[in-house]
Amino acid sequence: MSETWLSRAAAVEARTRDLRHRIHANPELSGQERETAALVAETLMSLGLAPRTGVGGHGVVCDIAGGTPGPMVALRADMDALPIQEETGLPYASERPGVMHACGHDGHTAMLLGLALVLAAARDRLRGTVRLIFQPAEETVAGAAAMCAEGCMDGVSAVFALHAWPGVGVGVIATKPGPVMASTDTFEIVIQGSGAHGAYPHLSRDPIAIGALVVTAAQQIVARRIDPLEPAVITFGTFHAGTATNIIPAGATLTGTMRALSASVRALLPRALEETARGVCASQGATCSCTISTGVDPVVNDPAWTALAIDAARVELDAGSVAELHTPSMGAEDFGVYLRHAPGAFLRLGIGDKAVGHDCRYDFNDAAIVRGITCMAAIAEEALGAAARLSAP
Ligand SMILES: [Zn+2]
Ligand SMILES: [Zn+2]
Repeated sequence: MSETWLSRAAAVEARTRDLRHRIHANPELSGQERETAALVAETLMSLGLAPRTGVGGHGVVCDIAGGTPGPMVALRADMDALPIQEETGLPYASERPGVMHACGHDGHTAMLLGLALVLAAARDRLRGTVRLIFQPAEETVAGAAAMCAEGCMDGVSAVFALHAWPGVGVGVIATKPGPVMASTDTFEIVIQGSGAHGAYPHLSRDPIAIGALVVTAAQQIVARRIDPLEPAVITFGTFHAGTATNIIPAGATLTGTMRALSASVRALLPRALEETARGVCASQGATCSCTISTGVDPVVNDPAWTALAIDAARVELDAGSVAELHTPSMGAEDFGVYLRHAPGAFLRLGIGDKAVGHDCRYDFNDAAIVRGITCMAAIAEEALGAAARLSAP
């Protein structure tokens, strides 16, 4: 072996960084990734590849066939930005008011293009096909399902993704088998009480006071109805009611998010929330309606493919570049949708102590690019070998 994945990744670092800055300067909201997808497709075509565009919205799928036929493994990057006004002051800061890459998806997309640059020049090393999935609409957890519905996982034996992670050392890969990201489902509770003058509360069924009871009682679900060894979150994000200081309104609307790491807890949360909201409202002479919007599954890493990914990263980088992850995040990701179609692993890529995700001062760290590409190339090669062994008679 003349060249390592690390040296091949280093050779494409400058071009990948330029692509990252271009994407960062031109962020597009979920479902609107037209220009980003065009840049992705154009870059892939310049390598002689034949990307499929318009998959599940603005998604792009591109297969890189190796020198030897074999199984197929996939790597995914997300392309969408967030509705945040950037305040980094960077020379390549967002040129679109109110829109910025504050979750590292500019880095993910650029690194997957960097991987394409590396693999297109090293096809003879691959025994099978590497599929690159450029996904729209991750922040609205809609893109993965839309792409899978249009066949992006057909024929894929294993699937992987890297996500930039503030707070982890620059270029350090961290993951674990089992749950790594939570499910998310949202709720809306509309309380119907009755209004009155603020001076005469006994003539009302005060939906604000009742809503406050609902918020408090909902925390009892996590504290008392769920196994303390099972993580769960119920967060109320909005509580809207009323128009003036001296008027008790007739109604209140509360919305929020529920998170879980297992299917059983995820199933219990909406049932328990509705029971609690109805029970509290009934006890106060009010009624309510409870609407649940189903989000995405937890991301649960397959133990065998996770071990393969960790080993591949360790061999290609060095032992200190791979950190054992002990606890999952209660954040959500739609990568779990791909894992319904094939096993795989979701890995964190450390970007150091920069601003936290979804913050107006966030910037992906270019110093993580080479290690990110190296890790993905090593995983792709090893996963093709493992998939071939599994399918061998
Ligand atoms: Zn995000
Ligand atoms: Zn993200």
